[in-house]
Amino acid sequence: MKPVLIGRELPEIAELLPPGEPAFRARQLYEAAYRKRVASWDGITTFGKALREAMVERADFGLPEVAQEFTSSDGTHRYLLRLADLRTVETVFMPEDRRDTLCISTQVGCPVDCKFCLTALMGLERNLTAGEIVGQVLLGAARHGLDPTSRQMNVVMMGQGEPLLNLDNVLKATRILCDERGVGMSERRITVSTAGIVNRMEALGRAAVRPKLAISLNASNEEQRRELMPITKKWHLKDLLEACRAYPLRTWERITFEYVLLGGVNDTDADARRVVKLLGHLRCKVNLIALNPGPGIPFETPSEERVESFRQIVLRVIPCFVRRPRGRDIYAACGQLKRMAESDVAAVGKGGGSGLVAIGPAL
Ligand code: SAH
Repeated sequence: MKPVLIGRELPEIAELLPPGEPAFRARQLYEAAYRKRVASWDGITTFGKALREAMVERADFGLPEVAQEFTSSDGTHRYLLRLADLRTVETVFMPEDRRDTLCISTQVGCPVDCKFCLTALMGLERNLTAGEIVGQVLLGAARHGLDPTSRQMNVVMMGQGEPLLNLDNVLKATRILCDERGVGMSERRITVSTAGIVNRMEALGRAAVRPKLAISLNASNEEQRRELMPITKKWHLKDLLEACRAYPLRTWERITFEYVLLGGVNDTDADARRVVKLLGHLRCKVNLIALNPGPGIPFETPSEERVESFRQIVLRVIPCFVRRPRGRDIYAACGQLKRMAESDVAAVGKGGGSGLVAIGPAL
């Protein structure tokens, strides 16, 4: 396979050019690909025809292709993207009045075995490259006319995969996304979510350019978390919280804790009180998500009243929000589109309402 443009930082772009080209050519390519978000070699108009043709021979441009797209009546778009090796990965676009959110993937599948998550059933296929992570943002911005330099646009790394197990590529993608001469996003508009890979949190915290941190808590004590998120056997909840305490937050930053509410399992008032005890001393907020149910997931969604009662208890001490379900009519649950696409695409396209939903941004 040819080398790829998207995902390279400036010095690596210089390596793609034919020998003897001046250094400014690399800058022109970098700015065209990331700042102007040109989508193909044809669009590099600062290059003459001969140089463009030489580049076609030398490298692939490297944006993902849309294999399938589904549009929800609530405006959510769900994409199944085809990568160069024909593997597929999901990206979701969720528009709102004052905020647009792109939910992107960091791995194909996921190695973390959370008991309520559909992606977990796939296992890990491979890490995404930095280019495949950036490519999801470029594609989403292009298709929906988003301006990455505006406060309206947000990126959350909450699609398929465990970002902290692919940290080098996640950080490289973030540098390209946040570079003024690159895509131009603010670090405040990108969030990375982890199941709690404790030994990678320090490296994340040390990075000069890094997204905001979100932790998927999902349980109110060690034992319950071990059941729901077996990774807790390796990375204990106690150590995860200690790493959160030690995490170098920027002045404007708070850690977001995400909590999937599973009916009758982790959603009682006592659970909510334990969550307050666990997190009360941290600079943080809590996002509650009622379970997106799905085939093979042995849990139920709690009632709205239960969610609200849980929220009220947490809210006494910690800012606490409920995430809205999105894309109910397009099977937009975590990992769901890909699984359906692999089995019975036509049925999905027509809808049919199994009540599977994506996670919208917190209200
Ligand atoms: N591996 C990372 C990022 C991907 S999962 C992490 O664990 O944070 C992104 C979020 O989706 C997590 O908070 C996870 O707990 C949540 N999630 C997974 N499956 C879900 C489901 N069926 N319903 C609701 N939220 C779910």
